[in-house]
Amino acid sequence: MKNIHEILQHHFGYKAFRLNQQEVIENVLAKKDSIVLMPTGGGKSLCYQVPALALDGLTVVVSPLIALMKDQVDALRLSGVGAAFLNSTQSSFEQATITQQIRDNELKLLYVAPERLIGPNGMFSFLKQINVSLFAIDEAHCISHWGHDFRPEYVELGQLKKEFPLVPLIALTATADKLTKKDIIDKLALVSFSVFENSFNRPNISYFIQPKKNHFEALIQYIKQHKEDSGIIYCLSRASTESLAEKLQQQGFDAAAYHYHAGLERNLREKRQENFLRDDLKIIVATIAFGMGINKSNVRYVVHADLPKNIEGYYQETGRAGRDGLPSEAILFYSNADVFKLKSFAKIDGNLAQSNIMLKKLDQMAALCETAMCRRKYLLNYFDEAAPDYCGNCDTCLSEKEKTDHTIEAQKLLSAVSRLNQRFGLNYVIDFLRGSSTCKPEHQPLKTYSIGKDISKERWKAMAKELLQLQYLQQSDGEYPVLQLNEKSMQILKGELTVMLTKSASTSIQPAQQQYAIQEDVHEDLLRILKATRYQLANEENVPAFQIFSDATLVELSTYLPLTNTDLAKISGFGDIKLAKYGNSFLDAILDYCVANELATKINSKIPKRQRKAAADEKTTDTKMASLQLFKQGKPVAEIAAIRNFSAGTIEGHLAHFVFTGQVDINEIVPKEKMQTIINAVEKNGNLIETGPVKQLLGETYSYGEIKAVISFMRRMKEG
Ligand SMILES: [Zn+2]
Repeated sequence: MKNIHEILQHHFGYKAFRLNQQEVIENVLAKKDSIVLMPTGGGKSLCYQVPALALDGLTVVVSPLIALMKDQVDALRLSGVGAAFLNSTQSSFEQATITQQIRDNELKLLYVAPERLIGPNGMFSFLKQINVSLFAIDEAHCISHWGHDFRPEYVELGQLKKEFPLVPLIALTATADKLTKKDIIDKLALVSFSVFENSFNRPNISYFIQPKKNHFEALIQYIKQHKEDSGIIYCLSRASTESLAEKLQQQGFDAAAYHYHAGLERNLREKRQENFLRDDLKIIVATIAFGMGINKSNVRYVVHADLPKNIEGYYQETGRAGRDGLPSEAILFYSNADVFKLKSFAKIDGNLAQSNIMLKKLDQMAALCETAMCRRKYLLNYFDEAAPDYCGNCDTCLSEKEKTDHTIEAQKLLSAVSRLNQRFGLNYVIDFLRGSSTCKPEHQPLKTYSIGKDISKERWKAMAKELLQLQYLQQSDGEYPVLQLNEKSMQILKGELTVMLTKSASTSIQPAQQQYAIQEDVHEDLLRILKATRYQLANEENVPAFQIFSDATLVELSTYLPLTNTDLAKISGFGDIKLAKYGNSFLDAILDYCVANELATKINSKIPKRQRKAAADEKTTDTKMASLQLFKQGKPVAEIAAIRNFSAGTIEGHLAHFVFTGQVDINEIVPKEKMQTIINAVEKNGNLIETGPVKQLLGETYSYGEIKAVISFMRRMKEG
């Protein structure tokens, strides 16, 4: 079995695993089943892609959408991994070719939709003839009717464990509450398994929710401040996506609508998606159908012009922002009218139970918008995760609403609920408190009737909602929820608990004013140049730009200014394949920029962001040492490169390092007759940093590796 750290570095360019990726991978490699809950952007797919490469045989990945499969397969191929997908859009010849590739052991990963895998024309008999190493089920929440995205064809996946009891299975999702999680386990018929849960928190996303009033102006204002950025704006209906896109175009913005509709034909839809992926189109105005298959890492903002139907949807859609880990924003415009409109959609004919689930989810969505507590805390609590009261990165935390003692009001409200035997809803309880004549005659003589008439209906509502969110009071499920008391309510009624509530709920929320600061020391001009370089490479390869490198990688490059291949290897995202393929293009651009601006590299100030720094450093040294050992055995660079599956440039970089430390004699790498010419050229160029201009002076007969080694040698002489 191959080393998982080497796979990670070689194919994906990361120095260390994140979150609990490594534990998950080790569990998979031990042939055990795993349930993985990991936030979007947390590196879910590596949890099965790395084992796929470590294990002998084929990993079958079940994925709900064709676009998603294509995206993943393209990205894997760029990283030098044999991957393919099978689906109905392919000709029978294409499908036969892929089947043959599988038989010839040329593929490590195969992506399929559940309906292609299972059923009368399924693949079970074929898969039984070959060596399947792992089943990975992506977007596993689709299997549960408790989830927001239930897909009946996913339920059939329960057969996998019966048909292939010895093949390990991994199910992954980024959105699942407690019920959904349990349902995934039941439906997949897992017996012995481990659950790996990560925090759902997306710390780089700022949440802003504001009333839907003059929201078009607010939106324009916001986009103006983010002209260079990619963003997605979600609307509820196709008609509103089209009218909003048109309005934005009239204002001079680079926007287009996207939705599934016969009126927007497939070619045009695909073209828009492609343009957006490639940064040729800045803004997509979409129905929620958009984005499921989109894995664009540099979406900087997601706006909801209309209310999403549930928290899962909202979290998944906002989660499309900032997958590269850079600061990003989620903005939602909220109105009660939207809640009302969505209530009618939430009802499913002839299925009361399912309707009630959907209605409850809608209520919880509305409650997020009305909450006076930290939005992030609310969201995380929704996914059964504890969170601090203050995140400092959402509108409620940033608006610093003042809280005061409202124990008396809370007691009035709770005793009203009690007097009414916990059998009435919010509106009736408030009418009762305010002494409305519409209350039932038998209620009017009760003691608490009209004890709250000095406070407006709106204010009572706001306080009640805050009490609900603080869980000082609860509400039953279903279409007509009633208020109910809980343990905390009893404590308040007995005077054992002080209730602090927001002074006034009518605080208006401004959209984020601050431009996101990417990183303090980033050279913005260089970043623009590197984006252009990436754009060009992407066009040559015919893939989206972010698949070449994420924005985060470019930000690191423009911050730490790596000038050699060795430096580049320290940048996240530069695996060996990509280093060999694209390294020089980026090095050239960075060198030119550093020369023009008289800058030196800052690579030594780069502190590995990933955890396990020690392990990572050790590993870098290990890989260099491995090259050194082979070199000491008398093998030429080209042979070492072939043995280690690295480029010759990388090996030369490794060896240059040991020239500097003195473990390798310069003459072992560079012939004596070449030495002086290289030294002359380096001196002519005037610094001990750049290799590019020296190479230009010297021409074809001198390699980058030789130049690098001589520069290391000269540095050693100078410093030693
Ligand atoms: Zn907050």
